[in-house]
Amino acid sequence: MNFWSLRCCVLCVLCASVLNAFSLDREAFTFTNYDLKIQIEPDQHRLGARGKITLRNDSSSSQKIAVLQISSSLDWRSIKAGDKPLQFVTQPYTSDIDHTGALSEAIVTLPDSVPPKSTIELDIAYEGVILLDATRLTRIGAPEARANSSDWDQISAKFTAVRGAGYVAWYPMATDVANLSEGDSMFEVLGKWKAREATSRMEVSFTTPTVPGDVTPAVTLCGGNEVHGVTTGGSTKFPWSQCSYQPLGLCVPAFIVADYGVVDRPAITVYHLPERAVAAEAYADAAEKTSALVTEWFGTSRRKAETADMGDPDVAPFESGSLLLTPLTTDSKLAGLVAAHQMAHASFSSPRPWIDEGLAHFAQALYLEHEKGRQAALDYMGLHRSAFSEAEKRNATTPKSEDEVNRSLVNTTSEELYRSKSMYVWWMLRDMIGESALKKALGAYRPEQDKEPSYMPRLIAAQTQRDLEWFFDDWVYRDRGLPDFKVESAFPRKTMTDTYMITVTVDNLGTAGAEVPVAVKFSGGEVTKRLEVRGKNKAVIRVEIPSAPQEIVVNDGSVPESDVTNNTFKIEMADTSK
Ligand SMILES: [Zn+2]
Repeated sequence: MNFWSLRCCVLCVLCASVLNAFSLDREAFTFTNYDLKIQIEPDQHRLGARGKITLRNDSSSSQKIAVLQISSSLDWRSIKAGDKPLQFVTQPYTSDIDHTGALSEAIVTLPDSVPPKSTIELDIAYEGVILLDATRLTRIGAPEARANSSDWDQISAKFTAVRGAGYVAWYPMATDVANLSEGDSMFEVLGKWKAREATSRMEVSFTTPTVPGDVTPAVTLCGGNEVHGVTTGGSTKFPWSQCSYQPLGLCVPAFIVADYGVVDRPAITVYHLPERAVAAEAYADAAEKTSALVTEWFGTSRRKAETADMGDPDVAPFESGSLLLTPLTTDSKLAGLVAAHQMAHASFSSPRPWIDEGLAHFAQALYLEHEKGRQAALDYMGLHRSAFSEAEKRNATTPKSEDEVNRSLVNTTSEELYRSKSMYVWWMLRDMIGESALKKALGAYRPEQDKEPSYMPRLIAAQTQRDLEWFFDDWVYRDRGLPDFKVESAFPRKTMTDTYMITVTVDNLGTAGAEVPVAVKFSGGEVTKRLEVRGKNKAVIRVEIPSAPQEIVVNDGSVPESDVTNNTFKIEMADTSK
């Protein structure tokens, strides 16, 4: 037993009663700064970390205790303030925020109370292994294979890839219990942590074992602004990487170590496993093919896109900053769809997730429309709809005004909303104000000038005569749920010129308004007009068609709706023509 673990055990016994006497405020401190040096030893599945972290007391009372959490497979080695070792006890803390389903929690007695808004800098050291571990998923009944392709993080000689908050606590965090079997608990705890950390900064350097001069070392990648290289010392090579996240935003810091080959093109670098060189070239080709469309919408590329091959074809892609981790595919259509997202990020960035991610998903829909037509894009967006419509339904049963604001696109930390719902919002805006107006608004966007939630909506409003205030209010500033359209009535009438005029009344039973396509079908064709229907309101439109109307369909799928079973209206015409 080494000094630290002995000391911790003793302290545990002494402090157990004290710890129970008061409850810990795990969310008192925001970790405003990380400066970490990480040594990775793939052969031993091992990680050793030392560095400095800065904690700011964001609670309203002075804090004498700080809580630091790392993955349960890692151990605390030392915690100091200045040169002074601090007393701390460690305890396992059950939480699904880590893949192991638990954290190693250090409860640190600070040298002095830290008053509200004040900071303290700590020197820390911890180490341990990161093995494939899907405990948090298997213990709630997930089949092992599925759990492992979801929680794939591990350090191993063959392939190392480890994601941060929400997957593996490889850097210190402090959160309340997240429980996957309790509704939104995980999402809320993680969302709160990310929101607290959004303006924090992180600098991490990674080193891997030195290799002899004639051996090509593994490549280390991370999602931040990264520099990596190999220093040669005599006949030995020292591989290293330096990563910087300034600020973190909603990014999840991650690192990868693998024996990658490289396909390097002007706009993109693709790192691939040795056996996937062909797929890497195909992906780079697909990325280059999206560039005309992406440039037209989002401007020229501001930084080079980076893609890293995940190997296992069953794992879901993951983004960390500028780095996309994805299984490389030789399916060029699928590659194009993934690349459109990544290339949009390379051209356009925003500190606001609903803009940053929403537009990158919108780029995917634009790509599909460009390749296969509007219906292909709507089908793709439909796959995303289920992601957020459940959440919206739950929300609708307990509407609270503060929830409307908290869950709004400008405030939400929910991926379903700032990715999937936001994609629809951009699509609806394009349909409402037209392509060239929206492109101009995006062209005028400067991330450094985005100081208020209304900045982007104002840029859009400046490009159109239309009043969009209601739309932004229902979809962006507030979460008013989804519309629910229904054709209330339709009255056809034959005109003097033998055409038909049909008057259609559309009722919106939902609380969010939208402009929705209304298609009137007749034998041999259809005519589509667009109609603005505010929440809990009705609107009327008259449509002229060449022959007798048969059916009316409201919404082609471009507006997300809570109930699409009431969107078709059959017209029974009395036969007056013969
Ligand atoms: Zn993205």
